[in-house]
Amino acid sequence: MSILTVTLNPAIDISYPLEYFHLNTVNRVAQVGKTAGGKGLNVSRVLKELGADVVATGFADDILGAEIVKNLKNEGIDCRFTKISGKTRNCIAILHEGQQTEILEKGPRILREEAKGFIDNFKAILAEVEAIAISGSLPDGLQETFYSALIAIANKQEKAVVLDCSGSTLEAVLKNSHKPSVIKPNLEELTDLLGKEVTLENIKDSLQDKLFDGIEWIVVSLGKEGAFAKVSGEFYRVKIPKIDVVNPVGSGDATVAGLVYGISQNETVGNTLKRANVCGMLNAQEAKTGHINKANYQALFDQLKVEKI
Ligand code: ATP
Repeated sequence: MSILTVTLNPAIDISYPLEYFHLNTVNRVAQVGKTAGGKGLNVSRVLKELGADVVATGFADDILGAEIVKNLKNEGIDCRFTKISGKTRNCIAILHEGQQTEILEKGPRILREEAKGFIDNFKAILAEVEAIAISGSLPDGLQETFYSALIAIANKQEKAVVLDCSGSTLEAVLKNSHKPSVIKPNLEELTDLLGKEVTLENIKDSLQDKLFDGIEWIVVSLGKEGAFAKVSGEFYRVKIPKIDVVNPVGSGDATVAGLVYGISQNETVGNTLKRANVCGMLNAQEAKTGHINKANYQALFDQLKVEKI
């Protein structure tokens, strides 16, 4: 079973731990951390750890992009990135005095021929995979309909698409006639999308908004509160136990990995929702972003409850 992940704007994530961050002078860093980053790459790693065969695609240059590809290949992930002339980005997190200052490069501008090359590449890979996870924002140079174009191609081949993006990119997809199978907003993203505060009290009504017509799975992740979902018109509440958290960054991406894995395996709705939440929780229990320790999987899974509302 193979799953395709799409990361259009990957990055080298750099972390600089500093005792003090001094402005307007030199800061020397002893222990630099560098990893392949971008939401779709977190999804790729967790999928691999779940036991799936993973094909990763996106745009990559021949310097940092090649480094990312090398990194992913070392983890057993098949890489089919489209080469670009722009520069793959670095994203820097300065960890200082208990705070985190981030410097996030916007990333390269994608040329029209490169976008076309990507679409041809995407069509060719689709025949080999059962499902697709698309994550993150669109790089400059691509039209807002780019994700909808990918979804249209996938729908034609009857391959499920799990889409995790936000803001105007998500809105553009929801307003298009080609719908993804799954979206995974959190409450903040829903609030943004609907222009009114979405809470657990009004979530059922909010998910009836016609903006969501035609989307089979809407999984709203709620951090330590678990999740709420609307699947084929039915509502579900996923309740999770309290856990010790080390680093919850990337838990949403791990959740996406669980969703696309469960759906590609035709698991029941209940088990797919549980799998997704367990993956999010396992990610939160690790220091590394986009990583789960599968040894703890079953013990957590057995403690989750999915209730029809
Ligand atoms: P991110 O953007 O950081 O990836 P997100 O907002 O997309 O996060 P969350 O709702 O924070 O996603 O987390 C996804 C899932 O991970 C949750 O539904 C839950 O199952 C699990 N999770 C996240 N944070 C915690 C936590 N503090 N305790 C227990 N489980 C958590």
